[in-house]
Amino acid sequence: MSYASLFGQLFDQKSALAIAVIFIPLERLLPLRRSQAILRKGWKTDLIYLLLNSALMNIAIVLGIATILSLKAKIIWSVIPEPVAHQPLWLQVIELILVADLAHYWMHRMFHSPMLWSFHALHHSTEELDWLATFRVHPVDHVPTSIVMLLPVMAFGWSPWAVGVWGSIYRGHAILQHANIRLPLGRFGLAVVGPEFHRWHHSTAGEARNKNFAAQFALWDVLFGTHYLPQGVCSDSYGIEETIPTKYVDQLCHPFRELRQKWRN
Ligand SMILES: [Zn+2]
Ligand SMILES: [Zn+2]
Repeated sequence: MSYASLFGQLFDQKSALAIAVIFIPLERLLPLRRSQAILRKGWKTDLIYLLLNSALMNIAIVLGIATILSLKAKIIWSVIPEPVAHQPLWLQVIELILVADLAHYWMHRMFHSPMLWSFHALHHSTEELDWLATFRVHPVDHVPTSIVMLLPVMAFGWSPWAVGVWGSIYRGHAILQHANIRLPLGRFGLAVVGPEFHRWHHSTAGEARNKNFAAQFALWDVLFGTHYLPQGVCSDSYGIEETIPTKYVDQLCHPFRELRQKWRN
């Protein structure tokens, strides 16, 4: 199985939908906000992101990877010894989480810079976090981030099995941290990203701004000085100051309009 087709399967919307079937009842069983409806504000647009946007971005990611492979950008791959793919599966998966999340951390942090924020603001615009909010991402944000994450994954030559397991964990983990569920991790929150950790990332609270960039391994935030997880308190206000359009196509065009406006000014 080629890496491009493997990633294509990992990041498709069908696997995401299958995971969602688990999260809808879970949000009813362990709700953080009991009063939050399943069909909350903006759910229709977010469903389009899940069904259409994920598929389109998936094609772009696979094309990007295929292009890189065709350019024979296997620089590290050729110097890393074969045994990488022959380590125990669990060890390969842990290594994948650490390496891919380090790439994610810096890409995510970059998209919080003033120049790129317009594209990432869309993901932060949701005011009611749940499993479906995971998918509200702009392609200009998601595609380069995914490609940069996947480059070391390809380059180091981990086995397709390990990449498959990591990809499934990554997808489930992303949905878990946005879900409307109460899951305090206590001291584990210093190492593992949980819903509370990522809720602070989406918080409107000033002290949580530009904090908690990791997607899986919270220790990257501890090491780089951006960790914020007060014990016993949970953020309950999410969103951004800017106004984002409500319709799907308008939302995708909005960052480009903003950039044009900034350019004119
Ligand atoms: Zn962010
Ligand atoms: Zn998020």
